[in-house]
This record gives sequence, C-alpha cells and structure tokens, in this order.
Amino acid sequence: MAYDKFWENNEKVNKTEKTKLEKDGLRILDDIPEYAKNGFASIPKDQWDLFKWAGLYLQRPKEDGYFMMRVNVPSGILSKDQVEALAGIARDYGRGVFDITTRQAVQFHWLEIGEIPDIFNRLEAVGLSSVGACGDITRNIVGNPIAGIDPNELFDTSGIVKEVFDFFQNNEDFSNLPRKYKMSISTNLHNASNAEINCISFTPAVKVLDGVEKQGFHLKIGGGLSARPFLAQTLDAFIEPERTLEVAVAVTTIFRDYGYREKRHLARLKFLMADWGTEKFLAKIQEYTGPLPTRGEEPVGEWNAGYFYGVHDQKQEGLKFLGFNVPVGRLDADEVFELARISDKYGNGEIRTCNSQNLIIPNVPAEHVEALLAEPIFERITIKPNSFIGHAVSCTGIEYCNLALVETKERMRSIALELDEKILLDVPVRMHMVGCPNSCGQRQIADIGLQGMKVRNANKEMVEAYEIYVGGTLNAGGEFNEKLKGKIPAEDLTGVLLQLLTYFKEEKYAGESFYDF
Ligand code: SF4
Repeated sequence: MAYDKFWENNEKVNKTEKTKLEKDGLRILDDIPEYAKNGFASIPKDQWDLFKWAGLYLQRPKEDGYFMMRVNVPSGILSKDQVEALAGIARDYGRGVFDITTRQAVQFHWLEIGEIPDIFNRLEAVGLSSVGACGDITRNIVGNPIAGIDPNELFDTSGIVKEVFDFFQNNEDFSNLPRKYKMSISTNLHNASNAEINCISFTPAVKVLDGVEKQGFHLKIGGGLSARPFLAQTLDAFIEPERTLEVAVAVTTIFRDYGYREKRHLARLKFLMADWGTEKFLAKIQEYTGPLPTRGEEPVGEWNAGYFYGVHDQKQEGLKFLGFNVPVGRLDADEVFELARISDKYGNGEIRTCNSQNLIIPNVPAEHVEALLAEPIFERITIKPNSFIGHAVSCTGIEYCNLALVETKERMRSIALELDEKILLDVPVRMHMVGCPNSCGQRQIADIGLQGMKVRNANKEMVEAYEIYVGGTLNAGGEFNEKLKGKIPAEDLTGVLLQLLTYFKEEKYAGESFYDF
C-alpha cells in the first residue's frame, strides 16, 4: 500500500517508473547470489539498472562486467574494524582503489559479480552496507564529520543520523522514490554538510519554547545540483531533535507520493519544492506531523566547505582531531590499512570521511600528536597541503563512469599540482572538476568549477574540453558559480587557469577570497 498514491498524483509516468513498479529495486538483492554463481552473462540486460539499489553500477564499458560499488558511511564515521574491512575489499577485489566521495561515502571499482556475495558478507560483519547508496532511494546521509567531538556543534548528531539512516535502509516503503534523494543532518556551525545542496537538510537552530531555550534544527528543502541546480529553501519551522525521524519520514512520504514521475529530468524533490513554495510544503508536512513550532535563530558561522586541515581541540579535554588531505579523494588499499593501524595506535581507531573527499583522525591524546605526524604516510596524506591540491575535488570521470565525457580525477590532480608549483595565493581557491552535467563533483559550489565536454578542434576531431565557472559559494545562503565564455580544450586548461589566477592575484585585496572578488 506504500505506493497507492503513485497513480493518483501522476497521470503519466516514464518507462523507468513502470519498470520500478514491476520489480522493486531492492529485490535485486534476492537475485545477486544466483547471478554470482552463474556469472555476468547470466544477468539479463534489463536488470542492470536495478543493481544501483544494491549500491552497484556497471563501470565503463558496461559489457566488460565490472562493477563500481558505493558503500554508505552515515555522517562519515568509521571504526577501525570498518576501515580494515573496506581496505580488505579494495585490496582483494578492487585492484587497490579506494575513493572518498563528495557525500562521505567510499567507492570501489573493478568488482566482479562472483565476488559480490563475499563483499556483502564482509560489509555486514562490520555493520556497513552498500544498499541504497545509489538508485531512486534515500542515499547515504551526510552529517557533521566531527559529530560528537566538535567543540562548536550545537549537539551531537551522530545518533540521530544513525537512527534516520537505519529507518530508511532497506525499507521497501521508501525504496521507490521518483529520483535519488539526498539528506543531511548536522549541527556543525560552519555548514560542513553543505546543507543547501541536499534535497532535505536539518541545520542548527535554537528557539525558546515554553520559556526554555531548546536546541534543534531548521529544515531546508529542495536543494540539488545537476543541469538545473537549486539551493534548498528554509521552511518556517523548528524541529526538536527527538522529532527528526518523524519529520524526515513526512518529507520522504511527500516526495514519494507527490514527486513527479513523468519526466526523469524533472523528478528530483527540488522541482516539487520550486512549484509548491515553502508555505505549501510546510503545510503538507504538518498534515503528517501535526503543528511544528515556527523558526528560531540560526547560530551559523562562515562556511568551511567540509575542510578541517590541521590539528584541532576536541570538545573532550586533552584530545585532538587531525584533518588530512587526500588528493582528489583517492587512496590505495595499503594506505587505508596503514591509516587504520595509525588511528588505532594513537587514537581510538576511528577515521572520519569529509565531503571535501578528505579524512580526519579523531580522539588523539595531545601528547601523541607529534609521534602520529612523524609516520611516513603523512608525507603524502598531509595536514598542511599546498593550496590547490588541498582544495581540489573531482568526480569519478571517464576512467570508470558511463556518463562521463572526459577524464577528471587524474587531470584535476595534475592541474592542481602544477598550479601549486607556479602560483602562490594568500587564500585557498576551491576547484571542482566534473565529467558531465550530473555534477557529482559539485562544481556549482566551487570557486572555480570545471565541467567537461567534447568539442571539435580545428581538425574536426572530437577532443576533451572544459567550461569554466567562477564564484560559487554556500556562504550567506549560497550562490552558484557562473559560466565564463568559451570552451577550453583540455591541453590548454592549465594555462588558462594560470592566467585567470594570476589576474586574481594581481587585482585582489590582501585576504580577499575568490568569491568576494
Ligand atoms: Fe560520472 Fe558525471 Fe558523476 Fe562525474 S559528474 S561521476 S562523469 S555522472
């Protein structure tokens, strides 16, 4: 009965919707053991797309039968056992590749169908799962990567993220949404969760209720990137922490029952929100939840974009957390094992992932920091990266992604390294590269966004090129970056960026950021 409103609110639905009604995406989990026994050739082509619900995409080219797997990491918090299990999967099945995504998840490549059951078992043994990491379903829930140790957070949200994640995980009442559905829950005062680009975000708020100051959330709805980006809008409501799940269920129910299913490119929650507006959306939520208090105050500071480089005090006296750069989010399995060993030796074994594709080692006693930093691995994975490589983000790109038009990860890495050799600025410039308009690398919120495409060169050959976008931020409510004229062939990109950054350096005031310029 969960989908009884499906037809009521949609006269026509697209082809994918009909497939999803015939077979719920999560049911692919029943078939995987059989496919694993019989090999890739036994999987009918019309079932390939359903693997997304299990967190699996066929990587490029699909016919070769290799899978990409995304593993959920709610709030980016991993225990030592979990880190070791992930490193083992990367080493044993994923040719050593271990990627941190822009939503705090972990991605593997090169997996074969026969290996998937063992990978599922290994994940389950440590309380992890890839289920729902892709597909038209609630994705990994982004949170404050320093939840519970953040001296400035309003309150610890790690338990709430876990509660909400567990509710939606593998829940067939909510496994057929109109499109992907992204949620963030965080009370980090510097918007570490990039709230405005999520479909639904719980953000820090305080309000006096019955004469007592309460800490809780504001609710932002309808953000999202891709070809038509929207910033989430704040509703006139205050959510008490104990009502988070109830409100999340109400919003997800609205998306499931009223979201658009006729055209896939118009199906994200952002389009429903844009049509309804904040008042109608809130009124509909309250049909499920009953009255909610009106908005309170927002104790927010400057946006940190998910960056935590350096050594920082925790809220627990005597303990430190350390923020490290992982160049364009890519580690190899041996490095991950080494990080697990080090975090266990000097901290409590935990590692946290950030949506800036970086990582944090928490819970290190102050007296152990120096010894930890002397470990050889921290020559590459450093707490004080050069500015461009330290603020370079990249999506997966043509190496593995079927939708990609161009190479991204290696190109972004080499461009950032070259810029670091050639130009020194007094402020960081965040650069995000994406291989297509889907914008997994979140190019719209970058100081400089680079979006790949194919163009014809003077010899009429198709070559890789990039559009350059400037001025994105999530400060002060947020603003997406704007396109500069022209398409730059890949071979000219570093030179053009160098010219742009030199102009910025020469014309800016001391300390002026790229966004303010
Ligand atoms: Fe693939 Fe495009 Fe996403 Fe990059 S932005 S990972 S190319 S779908």
